[in-house]
Amino acid sequence: MSSTIAQAARRELTDFTGELISPEDSGYEQARAVYNAMIDRRPALVARCADADAVARVIGFARAHDLPLAIRGGGHHGAGLGTVDGGVVADLSPLKEVRVDPEARTVRVGGGCVWGEVDRATNTYGLATPSGIVSTTGVGGIATGGGLGHLTRKCGLTIDNILEADVVLADGSQVRASADENADLFWALRGGGGNFGVVTSFLFRLHKIDTVVAGPTFWPVDVSAEVLTAYRDFLPNAPRELNAFFLYGTVPPAPPFPEEIQLRKTAGVVWCYTGDDSAAAAREMAPLLDALPEPMLHAAGPMPHPDLQSMFDGLYPPGHQWYWRADFVDEISDEAVQLHAKFGAEVPTVHSTMHLYPIDGAAHDVGPDETPWGYRGATWSTVYAGVDPDPANAELIKRWAVDYSDALHPYSAGGAYVNMMMDEGQERVRASYRGNYERLARIKADLDPDNVFRLNQNIRPS
Ligand SMILES: Cc1cc2nc3c(=O)[nH]c(=O)nc-3n(C[C@H](O)[C@H](O)[C@H](O)COP(=O)(O)OP(=O)(O)OC[C@H]3O[C@@H](n4cnc5c(N)ncnc54)[C@H](O)[C@@H]3O)c2cc1C
Repeated sequence: MSSTIAQAARRELTDFTGELISPEDSGYEQARAVYNAMIDRRPALVARCADADAVARVIGFARAHDLPLAIRGGGHHGAGLGTVDGGVVADLSPLKEVRVDPEARTVRVGGGCVWGEVDRATNTYGLATPSGIVSTTGVGGIATGGGLGHLTRKCGLTIDNILEADVVLADGSQVRASADENADLFWALRGGGGNFGVVTSFLFRLHKIDTVVAGPTFWPVDVSAEVLTAYRDFLPNAPRELNAFFLYGTVPPAPPFPEEIQLRKTAGVVWCYTGDDSAAAAREMAPLLDALPEPMLHAAGPMPHPDLQSMFDGLYPPGHQWYWRADFVDEISDEAVQLHAKFGAEVPTVHSTMHLYPIDGAAHDVGPDETPWGYRGATWSTVYAGVDPDPANAELIKRWAVDYSDALHPYSAGGAYVNMMMDEGQERVRASYRGNYERLARIKADLDPDNVFRLNQNIRPS
C-alpha cells in the first residue's frame, strides 16, 4: 500500500521542489523519526518541501488520495503531531530562511527553522524575539501554539510578536495574514496551533536583548515547599526584566555541575534577567535568595542570549522517551505546594522534570480574546514531563507525570497549553481555548471545512 502511494507521488509530483522519501528509501528511518522516541509511526511518504508551492502540491496530493496529512516543523510535539501512520508528512525542514532587518527590528523566518537558527542570527544585531528554552524546538509549532520561555515576562509570548505570516491554506491557495490582511486567519493562527494552514514564513518583532544574566539556583529537594512558597510570593511582584521558572528535577551528572551535588534531587529556579548589569540582576534576585536557606548552587551570570537558549540542549537530545501533562494555574495554594513537594521529591529519572513557567508580565498586556490564547489571567503554565532515554522506563515516567498532574489538576485554572499536552481528547482542547473556541471553530469551517489539518490539537469545523 505505502509503495503504491510512493509510486503515485513520484508520478504526480514531478519536478517537486524538495525531496520525496518513502519506506523503500535508505533515508526513511531518519526521515520518519520525530523528537519523542515514544512515537513510532510509519508514514507512507515524507515530502520535504523546499517552497510554498511544494507545500501546496503535497496538500493537494494527500487530499486527492484521501490520506491523512501531518505537517512537521521541528518535530518536537510530545504527541508526535508531526508524523502519521500510513499517511503523508509535509516536512518543512528545508524552509530555512532567516533574514534580520535590524532597522525595522524584525526577522523573517522560514516555517521549518528551529529556534537556535533564529536566536544566533538575531543576536548578531543584539536583538531577540521570545521563544522556548531549547534551541532545537521548531519555530512552526511554538509560533502557532503559543511560545513561552525566558523572555515571556519582558516581551510576551511568541504569538504576541508575530507581525505577518505567509500561509498555504487547505485548498492550496497561498495568502499573507497580518493585522491588515486576512485578519481572521491572522487572529486564529496565533495560538490555534496549525489548524488553519501551513505557515511557510513568519515575520517576528525583535527586541533589544543581547547579554542576559541567567542560570540556575538549586536547593535540596527537602526544602522544596519553602522554596516554592517563597517563589510563588516573590515572582509576580518582581519587575518584568526578571524571569524565573521554577523546577523540580535532578542535578545532571556532568560538568559544569560540581560533583558533590550531581544526581541530587532539587527544587530550583532558572533565571533570566534581560540586561547585562550583573549587580542590578543580583539586586532583583535578592528578595527570593535572602528569604531562603543557602542553595546547593547559585550560578546566574552574564551570557549571550543564545547561550541561555541552548543551555538545556545537551540534557535533552532527540530520541528520549517523553510523556507530557500540563495545566494553566492562576495561583498556587498552600495545599498545592504540599502536593508539589510530594511529587517533586519523587521525580523518577534524571531527565524527568516539572516546570512552572511564568506567563504574567507582558503576556498579560494582551486581552483574552485578542489571540486564541484565552488564559491571559493565568500566572503560570505547569508542565509535568516524564523523560528518560531508556524505553524500558516508558511506563514509569508516564505514571509519574499522570499521577502528578491528576493530583494538581483540581488546583488549576482548567485548560492547558496545547503545545505541552499529549492527545487528551476534544474536551481538553476546547477547555484550553476557553471562550475563544467557538470563533476558532467558525474560522476553521470557513478555511478548512474538511479538516485537512487535523493532526494537531484539533479544532473541529463548526
Ligand atoms: C525539549 C522540548 C522543549 C520545549 N520547550 C518549550 C518551551 O520552552 N516553550 C514552549 O512554548 N514550548 C516548548 N516545547 C513544546 C513545543 O512548543 C511544542 O513541542 C511544539 O509543537 C514544537 O514545535 P515543532 O515545530 O518542533 O513541532 P512539530 O511536532 O513539528 O509540530 C507540532 C504541531 O505544530 C504544527 N506546525 C509545525 N510547524 C508548522 C507550520 N510551519 N505551520 C503550521 N503548523 C505547523 C504541526 O502541524 C503540529 O500540529 C518544548 C518541546 C520539547 C520537546
